[in-house]
Amino acid sequence: MSESTVRIGLVLPDVMGTYGDNGNALILRQRLRMRDIDAEVVQITLSDPVPDSLDVYTLGGAEDSAQRLATRHLTRYPGLQNAAARGAPVLAICAAIQVLGHWYETSAGERVDGISLFDVTTAPQATRSIGEVVTEPALEGLTQKLTGFENHRGGTTLGLDASPLAKVTHGVGNGVGDGREGVVQGSVIGTYMHGPVLARNPELADYLLERALGTTLAPLELPEVAELRKERLRRT
Ligand code: GLN
Repeated sequence: MSESTVRIGLVLPDVMGTYGDNGNALILRQRLRMRDIDAEVVQITLSDPVPDSLDVYTLGGAEDSAQRLATRHLTRYPGLQNAAARGAPVLAICAAIQVLGHWYETSAGERVDGISLFDVTTAPQATRSIGEVVTEPALEGLTQKLTGFENHRGGTTLGLDASPLAKVTHGVGNGVGDGREGVVQGSVIGTYMHGPVLARNPELADYLLERALGTTLAPLELPEVAELRKERLRRT
C-alpha cells in the first residue's frame, strides 16, 4: 500500500451486510483500480475500534439484533462521526440509515438510540416493504435514475436537517408515505436500496469517489453495466 492508496472503510461487515451490501465497498475499489488509482478495502469488525482517517465509508443493512450490536459499537468508538464531521463521504444502507439516525424502534417495539449523524427517526410500519425501487435523484450532481431492491419494515421520517436522496417513482422508499427515498446530510448518504446499490448505480459510486478524492473522475465506459440498467428499468 502506498501513501496515496485510497482507503475504503467497510464498517461492521460481520453484523451489517445483508443482501450483498458488502459489495458496495468492492465496487468503489474496482472503479478506482480501473482508473489506475490504488485502492484497498479496510474491514472494521466488532473487534476493531472505528478509525476516523479513511477516505470513504460504507455500511450495509441488518436485521434488528445485528443492528443493535452495530449501534452499540459505533456509539462506543465514534470514528465514523469524526470522519463525517471532516466531510468524509459515508454510504449507509437500510438498517444503517436507522442506526445513523436519532433513534429507531425495533419490530418488538423497543426504542434504541442511534448515533445522530442523520436527523431522522425510524418506527416499524404495519407492513414490510419488499421489492424493486426506482427513483429520480434529488441530490445535486446526480442525473440518472436510481434503482435497487428494498426489504424493510422500518419507516424513516426526515427532520429539517436531512434531505431526501430521491423521489420514488416505483416502490416504497422511506416508508412513511411521503414519496421520498433515502437521506442526505452533509457528506453522509443513506438509501434503502440493496443491489448492491453501487453495482446498479455507477453514477452514485463515482459521486462518492469524487467527494472522497476531491477531484472529478473520467467516466468509465462499461456497456454491460449500462445494458443491465436498461433491462432493469424496462422491467419496472
Ligand atoms: N431491521 C430493519 C427493518 O426491517 C432493517 C432491515 C434491513 O436492513 N434489511 O427496517
